[in-house]
Amino acid sequence: MNTRGYAVMEAKKPLVPYQFNRRELGANDIALDILYAGICHSDIHQAREEWGPALFPMVPGHEIAGVVTSVGNKVTKFKVGEKIGVGVFVDSCRTCSSCQAGLQQYCLEGMTGTYNGLERDGVTPAMGGYCNYFVINEDYAVHIPDNLPLEGVAPLMCAGITLYSPIKHWKVGPGKKVAVMGLGGLGHMGVKFAAALGADVTVLSHSPKKEKDALAMGAHHFVDTSNPDNFAKHAGTFDVILNTVSAELDINQYLNLLKLDGTLVVIGLPGKPYSVHVGSLLNGRKSIGGSMIGGIPELQEMLDFCGKHSIVSDVEVIASDYINEAYERTVASDVKYRFVIDTKTF
Ligand code: NAP
Ligand code: ZN
Repeated sequence: MNTRGYAVMEAKKPLVPYQFNRRELGANDIALDILYAGICHSDIHQAREEWGPALFPMVPGHEIAGVVTSVGNKVTKFKVGEKIGVGVFVDSCRTCSSCQAGLQQYCLEGMTGTYNGLERDGVTPAMGGYCNYFVINEDYAVHIPDNLPLEGVAPLMCAGITLYSPIKHWKVGPGKKVAVMGLGGLGHMGVKFAAALGADVTVLSHSPKKEKDALAMGAHHFVDTSNPDNFAKHAGTFDVILNTVSAELDINQYLNLLKLDGTLVVIGLPGKPYSVHVGSLLNGRKSIGGSMIGGIPELQEMLDFCGKHSIVSDVEVIASDYINEAYERTVASDVKYRFVIDTKTF
């Protein structure tokens, strides 16, 4: 099926209009018209090969919200006309212990990514969501609650689940002091979820102009990390720190903000290793953890939670010819708080 979108033809080059063919609908597949596609900082890292060699041409995009247009003859989970979401992976081995536990993102064979890899057949390059049409196996797609605006839902498919999952895993809730590092696409979802779950929420941001927005999203406190004095002032404060920062930084300064037995969860993926002083961990029995997106059952649980609490991402909806500028603005921490492409403009 002919599909219109935008692609990166070569590492670090701007995105350009691009047409390609999607696979035919299989018995267990769903075809969808994509209506909105979010721009995740991971798209930028990969388009610029900041994580190592990538596959080009690349149609990025793993925050996909649309409507089902047809279903294969064995599909039971979806009907034509329903709203549907697709996230960071489109398949996995289905048999390993992680897949069996519904944690497909940790598939021992490696999840099948939405783009920048091969489809499950091992030969077809996977093309992501910056386009107007998608085909996916029904087991890897999720239902979108009817009460939520689709443009605000698209970013939930990566940014949303990527914060919901560690917030649940590290039991962020009443009586817990949690800090979110970086108020970007991921971070602002972390603030909304942690606040909805009753935690005491602080934003650690190097952009003081974001304070008002942070508080409006439900944060109780805002700490400007561009002022070095604030690190001493807030030492020993937090049970959990969720680090969504996309750039390199001195992680030791942030470990000092943890309480006894606190955990700093690494979520941002700058592509270069952190340098950790052992003393920053020993003194206070602290931990560093990591978390990657979430599995299909948890993705559905998060969307249902968002439906119940009317939570969506704060978005700037853009046309396709603005993608390159949106990339620059995202890298400059100048996005409120996720760019979402209106796919009618492809
Ligand atoms: P984003 O919208 O660009 O947000 C990143 C935020 O980091 C910025 O808004 C900014 O917040 C802060 N930041 C940026 N540069 C900084 C600097 N030089 N010093 C200090 N803070 C800085 O990006 P995103 O889409 O939320 O993604 C964030 C990171 O998570 C990316 O590395 C992405 O690849 C990764 N990611 C990981 C997963 C996972 O499964 N673990 C999933 C998706 C994305 P302030 O202006 O508030 O300081
Ligand atoms: Zn993402």
